[in-house]
Amino acid sequence: MSQELPTRLTCGGCRTQLGEELLACPVCGRLVHAQRLTELAGMAKAAAEGGDPIGAIQMWREALELLPPDSKQTALIARKIAALSNKPIGVPSPRAGSSSRAGKMAAGMTGVALLLWKLKFILVFVLTKGKMLLLGLTKGGTFVTMFLSFAVYWTAWGWAFAAGLVISIYIHEMGHVEALRRYGFKASAPMFIPGLGALIRLKQRPVNAAENARIGLAGPIWGLAAAAAAWGVWMATGKPIWGAMAHVGAWINLFNLVPIWQLDGGRGFAALSRQQGWAIVLVAGIVFFWTGEGMVLLMVLAGVFQAMAKRAEAKGDQPVMVMYAALIVALAALSGVRVPMALG
Ligand SMILES: [Zn+2]
Ligand SMILES: [Zn+2]
Repeated sequence: MSQELPTRLTCGGCRTQLGEELLACPVCGRLVHAQRLTELAGMAKAAAEGGDPIGAIQMWREALELLPPDSKQTALIARKIAALSNKPIGVPSPRAGSSSRAGKMAAGMTGVALLLWKLKFILVFVLTKGKMLLLGLTKGGTFVTMFLSFAVYWTAWGWAFAAGLVISIYIHEMGHVEALRRYGFKASAPMFIPGLGALIRLKQRPVNAAENARIGLAGPIWGLAAAAAAWGVWMATGKPIWGAMAHVGAWINLFNLVPIWQLDGGRGFAALSRQQGWAIVLVAGIVFFWTGEGMVLLMVLAGVFQAMAKRAEAKGDQPVMVMYAALIVALAALSGVRVPMALG
């Protein structure tokens, strides 16, 4: 370390003394990490040619961290990543899980920590923002009844319901984690803090809105799968706790699809053109008249606001729009499940 210090802090081109955080020499423009960048580019090409696109994306993302954000190379590599990562939404690749056992354990532990964090968020949301939303949605009584039924289920099934809820949120989070791996993001512990804006704090950012949207929608896709599975078990066994799980699980994922803040829906909506944004508003509007689901009404209101704020020339991503719309329809249908409370 101490031997490397002098070369690191002196520009290899013009011998200017450089600050530690600099990525390029302010005098001659030479890239501080030029050597490592050449290595990474070589490894990325080898990975791509060896049929390992995820490995290639991983190398390119690492290279991005070493480049000044406004450099030509950054734009070039971002285009390379976008070309490599532009894949169908929500389709796990068989390679995605090929990490070590220790890595998986660590991922699992972070997942649990994350989950507790998310639960805390939901509680805080219910206590603060939830009250505000309720005031704005006094006619959308579904909101109130949702929390009431939530409480009733909890009282009826206690820990079993709580455990089911935690698992369904965990599955949602794992959808994000799987997508992050599939898109070649570093699978280190801080990566596993999705949810509200956590991705923004990462060193490796998605290179464009479409990529961000795919990672965002992956959570609700897996959440939908979990809720549908619970519904299937309910149908098969007639045990109402599974119906309750399907109902609440679907509702939580619907909440995540509201296009505001850094919610998954906000990330999805950001990848849409103005026209596509209005299409989502239309779909949500129809679904609201069909189901009366208060969360979908909130989605309509937020969607109108977001669509109006979009620039006319904003580019759109068709698969993201289709997936977004499908998720709203399917989750609202599952969230409409009403579970008879006859116990025993
Ligand atoms: Zn220099
Ligand atoms: Zn999510």
